Amino acid sequence: MCARTEPRLTPPDDALRVVRRLNAAGHRAYFVGGCVRDSLLGLMPKDWDICTDAGPDAMAEVFQGWHVVETGLKHGTLTVMLNHQPYEVTTFRVDGAYTDHRHPDSVAFTDDLREDLRRRDFTVNAMAWHPEEGLIDLFHGQEDLQAGLIRCVGDPRERFGEDALRILRALRFAACYGLSIEDETAKAMRDMAEDVRLVAGERIRVEMDKLLCGRAAESILRDYADVITAIFPALKPMVGFDQKSPWHHWELWEHTVRAVGFIAPDPLLRWVMLLHDSGKPAAFTVDEQGVGHAFGHQQHSVKIAARLFDGMHFDTRTRERALLLIEKHDLSMTPDAKLLTRQLNRFGEEAVRQLIAVHCADGKAKGTVQPETMDAWASEMTEALDALLAQKPCFTLSGLAVKGSDLIAAGMQPGKQLGDMLQRLLEVVMDGEVPNDREALLRKAKEIQAP
Ligand code: ATP
Ligand code: MG
Repeated sequence: MCARTEPRLTPPDDALRVVRRLNAAGHRAYFVGGCVRDSLLGLMPKDWDICTDAGPDAMAEVFQGWHVVETGLKHGTLTVMLNHQPYEVTTFRVDGAYTDHRHPDSVAFTDDLREDLRRRDFTVNAMAWHPEEGLIDLFHGQEDLQAGLIRCVGDPRERFGEDALRILRALRFAACYGLSIEDETAKAMRDMAEDVRLVAGERIRVEMDKLLCGRAAESILRDYADVITAIFPALKPMVGFDQKSPWHHWELWEHTVRAVGFIAPDPLLRWVMLLHDSGKPAAFTVDEQGVGHAFGHQQHSVKIAARLFDGMHFDTRTRERALLLIEKHDLSMTPDAKLLTRQLNRFGEEAVRQLIAVHCADGKAKGTVQPETMDAWASEMTEALDALLAQKPCFTLSGLAVKGSDLIAAGMQPGKQLGDMLQRLLEVVMDGEVPNDREALLRKAKEIQAP
């Protein structure tokens, strides 16, 4: 028999102080959930959550005089701040019945660790650890972790029935850690995926952001296309969609999955790749030669994406930027200084750089161009952009060497014409017709006014 070595976690001293303080006051306290899982995986946990049999009042008393944040105290969570780091301490809990697939009707405190671990979603997330007692693993989480498996604690149908978000969380953990999903858990997920639509959009977004950035995001999107499209039905027509195009080697979903994998793991960029071609089926036509086209699909994609983003309550900044990148994902981009200056003017530097990345990922995912060719194109574009920016070109009104006040001083009337004139001057500067120089621009303004 192969004896398992007793895992030792290495919490920061401050986290240990919190546990020891509870213990010293006669309470049980354990590290629990993500930090135990991550430690066993050899990863550095992001945060060190603690669970305890101390109820809210007892917790408040134990940490009297400490810097704490009491916002969740009624629900049994106290945040202890040490050296600017938050440590969440939560009373052992049992969730009551779930009637809406997303909220327990009631939450009760308990002094039984087993009950608290049993309400958690997956075996790998249901382990606790104490510096003296060691690992408390009542549901074989360690075994599942070693086998690389996400498995529900208890009956998957029951657990997903309580909170359908767990279906998406299973995909998130599988994508982030490269784990597989145990058969019964996976089967229940596929059967019940539509229930995820009942869950609050914000919660869906949190899990999707992480899923899309996971190292195994591609294989999860590929293997669980049915679950993803049950959650986002607007994407269903993409799966298996034959593009009938000499430019595309893959069907639409496979192209999409690859495009996601080819861009940096940044949530905004990954959403853009997931949705950039979502409007293709709606815009699709086949010509007499049997070749498929999707003219104007960008607009359809923008509509689909806007609806999804709104459902998930995306912040305006992310929403607008993602929609811009989706709309312009096919934009013709060349390392031409004049064209780049125009694009800097329309989109700004950050968006231009993102468009280069989007274009590159899209191209690689077509399967008809060598990835190296696309990388070389992206490098050439970036170099041209860097060289252009090094010359500090003027591509915004605020960068123009004349202001409205200069034109007024030169005798122009304030009002709309003044705005139009500044815009004209910016155009001639961007086109290289006139240098961005005050005197030259004032001369040009007079020339435009009285040709
Ligand atoms: P991460 O490192 O990404 O934060 P995590 O495991 O800490 O991962 P959280 O969402 O922070 O994930 O949740 C903390 C713990 O709470 C989980 O490990 C799990 O035990 C439990 N948990 C969270 N959400 C649910 C849920 N919807 N149903 C059941 N248990 C949950
Ligand atoms: Mg966490």
